[in-house]
Amino acid sequence: MPTIQWFPGHMAKARREVSEKLKFVDIVFELIDARLPLSSRNPMLDQIVQQKSRLILLNKSDLADPNQTNLWVNYFREAGHHVLALTAKDDKSVKQIVPASKKVLAEKIARDQEKGIKPRAIRAMVLGIPNVGKSTLLNHLAGKKIASTGNRPGVTKGQQWLRFGTQLELLDTPGILWPKFEDPEVGQRLALTGAIKDDLLHLDDLALYELEVFTRFYPEQLKERYKLTDENLTLELPELLLLIAEKRGFKDDYERASEMLILELRQGRLGRYTLDRFEELSE
Ligand code: GDP
Repeated sequence: MPTIQWFPGHMAKARREVSEKLKFVDIVFELIDARLPLSSRNPMLDQIVQQKSRLILLNKSDLADPNQTNLWVNYFREAGHHVLALTAKDDKSVKQIVPASKKVLAEKIARDQEKGIKPRAIRAMVLGIPNVGKSTLLNHLAGKKIASTGNRPGVTKGQQWLRFGTQLELLDTPGILWPKFEDPEVGQRLALTGAIKDDLLHLDDLALYELEVFTRFYPEQLKERYKLTDENLTLELPELLLLIAEKRGFKDDYERASEMLILELRQGRLGRYTLDRFEELSE
């Protein structure tokens, strides 16, 4: 997992680089993780992007709870944003981006047409925190493997455009911004999905958090994966963790059970889930 140590200097530089690139594009694709529609956003994005047209892409929607994704899509729409649930790994899903971008830019396109300006490809850049799928999206849009930026803010190369058909041109390096790591709960959520490597968080705390989410929102998925009964799910979470450990043949090994639980979640073995709950927003 690539990690970035974000220091104030890096953040200022990342921000400057994004602002520079914004000048060249018509639209920003803000990539967020559909399992974490709030936690995986950069806290200063509105300030950085300002009035530039934006399409929010809820990526990894193949891993997220579809009911929650629908609620979040509506939420962003009602807030006045253009938004699309996306799976960057899937070419069919990625194909929706051009028509959606045209919708976002409809007014500008119509204005240009009235003025007799010849239509040209839409220029866009991809923006998001590390691990939301920026490189994956660029690769699928470009239809080929492009060199990784190494996920380091502050690495600038000559700017190049990747062409996607005749209608879309993308800056070949995505804008990488920092997550909201100052909020411990956000840190926990990002760490559980594997988006950040947080050495301050203990594996057992992460595993207990995972069990809290799954006993509450996805009990059937948990029961099926670990052959549990309804009664098992009424256990205190540390006891439930020990029971799962025992079932897997490593009795009393809390550490190993935690590791396994987190790994299996990240491998998708527990099915689809969303950690940022829409209903929490109105609480
Ligand atoms: P970046 O740091 O934003 O450039 O993120 P990457 O493109 O490197 O993606 C991080 C991880 O997420 C990789 O393991 C990708 O394969 C995975 N990934 C990206 N998009 C998707 C998606 O839509 N669905 C799933 N299941 N995995 C994805």
